[in-house]
Amino acid sequence: MKRESSDLFGPLVQKPAAQKTVSVLVPLPTPGPYSYALPEPLRAEPGAVVQVPLGPRKVIGVVWDEDGKNADAVIDSRKLRPIEQVFDCPPLDPTMRRFIDWVASYTLSPPGLVARMALRAPAALDPEPMVEGLRFCGHVPERMTPARQKALELARDGLSWTRSGLAHAAGVSLSVIDGLVKQGVFETVFLPPPPLVAAPDPDYTPHRLAGVQQEAAEILIEDVRQGGFSVSLIDGVTGSGKTEVYFEAIAETLRQGRQVLILLPEIALTTAFLQRFEDRFGARPAEWHSDLATRTREKVWRQTGSGDIRVVAGARSALFLPFADLGLIIVDEEHDPAFKQEDRVFYNARDMAVVRARLASIPLVLVSATPSVESQVNSLAGRYKRIHLPTRFADAAMPDLHLIDMRRHPPERGGFLSPVMLRAIGKTIAQKQQALLFLNRRGYAPLTLCRVCGHRFQCPHCSSWLVEHRFRGQIQCHQCGYAETTPHACPECGTLDHLVACGPGVERIAEEAEKHFPEARILVLSSDLGGVKRLRLELEAIAKGEADIVIGTQLVAKGHNFPLMTLVGIVDADIGLANGDPRAAERTFQLLSQVTGRAGRTGLKSHGLLQTYQPQHPVMQAIVSGDAEAFYQREIAERERALLPPYGRLVSIIVSADNRADAEAHARALRQAAPPAKGIAILGPAEAPLALIRGRYRFRLLIHGAKSSDMQGFVRVMLEQAPKERRSLQIQVDVDPQSFL
Ligand code: ADP
Ligand code: ZN
Repeated sequence: MKRESSDLFGPLVQKPAAQKTVSVLVPLPTPGPYSYALPEPLRAEPGAVVQVPLGPRKVIGVVWDEDGKNADAVIDSRKLRPIEQVFDCPPLDPTMRRFIDWVASYTLSPPGLVARMALRAPAALDPEPMVEGLRFCGHVPERMTPARQKALELARDGLSWTRSGLAHAAGVSLSVIDGLVKQGVFETVFLPPPPLVAAPDPDYTPHRLAGVQQEAAEILIEDVRQGGFSVSLIDGVTGSGKTEVYFEAIAETLRQGRQVLILLPEIALTTAFLQRFEDRFGARPAEWHSDLATRTREKVWRQTGSGDIRVVAGARSALFLPFADLGLIIVDEEHDPAFKQEDRVFYNARDMAVVRARLASIPLVLVSATPSVESQVNSLAGRYKRIHLPTRFADAAMPDLHLIDMRRHPPERGGFLSPVMLRAIGKTIAQKQQALLFLNRRGYAPLTLCRVCGHRFQCPHCSSWLVEHRFRGQIQCHQCGYAETTPHACPECGTLDHLVACGPGVERIAEEAEKHFPEARILVLSSDLGGVKRLRLELEAIAKGEADIVIGTQLVAKGHNFPLMTLVGIVDADIGLANGDPRAAERTFQLLSQVTGRAGRTGLKSHGLLQTYQPQHPVMQAIVSGDAEAFYQREIAERERALLPPYGRLVSIIVSADNRADAEAHARALRQAAPPAKGIAILGPAEAPLALIRGRYRFRLLIHGAKSSDMQGFVRVMLEQAPKERRSLQIQVDVDPQSFL
């Protein structure tokens, strides 16, 4: 229809003189905004959220500008279609718009895809409906009862109440209120929807801080008072009171009437944190993560934008919420790999938080017991303020850490726990305390093979082994989720009952623990247990002492407080060291410190035992000696020598296709297309360690540059000059990669 009329009447109908043209960024992987006509009487300032037609669809977009100017947009006046609707929600403010541009340009992602992260709650764009309420209008009912009396006493203040709110406050049943309504005692009024969470009170229950904590808090409070951009790194051992310290910065920001964003890894699991926040501030923060119900999600989005929500505790995507007046950002566990998104837009929320704070001119606080090497270097160089809390609060001792040399104290045949570990577990549970066994491997065994022909069970769609999950009777691919019933016969040679499970997963360790401690209450905790709710319940049960031995993956490492946990055993401390990742040592150090830090947080004497075949490894030595300083020095020197981040820069490009030849050919073509550049080298293409995922063949290029290199510019040219991608090809660009698989 549209087409026909434009052909008949030409540009006249499409673009009358009075129509304005605006650029609109649509949430799609397009290179930039598109132009649309803004028909009278619509008004749309930059940042306004609008609905526009796009091909046969209608999409949500944002009116775009660049640094205050109207953005250059692809204009084709014949195709210029009108904006259909301007939503009645606060526009994305200039800081947010510059932030989106910045993230897009840094991560080499289409700006529309970044904008989409800021528009994650489409149905929230219209205002929330008003809620019906009651107001006393002066009429007294004919017959008074004690219950009616109670309700009227409250309602006499002349304020508006919801029906259930008044009943609840007066302690009467709803029928009492309904009776009064019938008598014409109330008039109907419409109330704004109730806020999702109550306002936190900065002075609800302030804690008395210890000396060093107080000094640390004052530095942050001063930053908040002064305003402006600053970054501080709170580097303090587990249990030193880092949370208490940054709570004071939050309190100060709230006193100034501004909003706070707290980024946490695995927010879905941090019930204990939310409770603690409530104890301190009298109300919970709003949560933001992928498990929120759609309605709640929409409310959080809208009320963050209206300023009704004062504090959000969220996963990395909370960084894209449209805060009305953000005054402070906290990134807790700043070293955590979970802050890196590796999907569509590859970004590290920790790094982008720095950018957002700078654009908004506000303080940012990074927090960790084991900061990333990048943040350590920044604080050593004086770019970040370093706030150091070297000891646990109230003299709670750090756990006593020891290595178990597995060459000298090997487990019995078929087992994975050294006799030294087993003795320690026995002693702990005899004292009615808890032991945690940590192994970062889900399922029963990572590999199944046939003892007769040597066949290994591999995923048909990925280059990864199938992991046995004995509780479920399945073997599963952890890459793509492919699963089949655990077979009894080898598909290769047909032999029955000669399949063996190789290596341990948490389920297998649980089986071993059960054999040695048949009386103990044993709990396996890993992400395939089901939903967040279930996990939260399990974690609460552990905190209450309802398990003797907990066997868990890294889920148990994060932020939980288990008062009775006095033994932490690391089943395989070497597991992360062998994977060719430049951050392997750092990651292992962080994870092991964090897990062993779960022990003894309430003052009971506690132990950490690490099973290792490499007791001399610097990571193992750093952990048991407690000499983090030495570890960082060595690690930093290593990075500097190899020009690895933050002394050099990396960009990884994965080219994938549904057949191997295409993937390899395009990866080579990309390399060919690279412009000459001093100080930038390309490694590869090489087949990726995970050469096949979900039926897609993957080749990897790693671009390594000096610190000052224009990596983005270099890669942009490569991508532009390479031959056009063919249908099945996909290119993923990962600036500052964390994963090398
Ligand atoms: P971190 O964040 O460094 O791991 P936390 O802030 O969680 O440390 O503190 C560890 C424990 O000590 C918590 O249970 C906390 O409530 C308690 N704690 C720390 N500082 C204080 C303080 N000043 N007053 C009361 N309790 C404190
Ligand atoms: Zn698979």
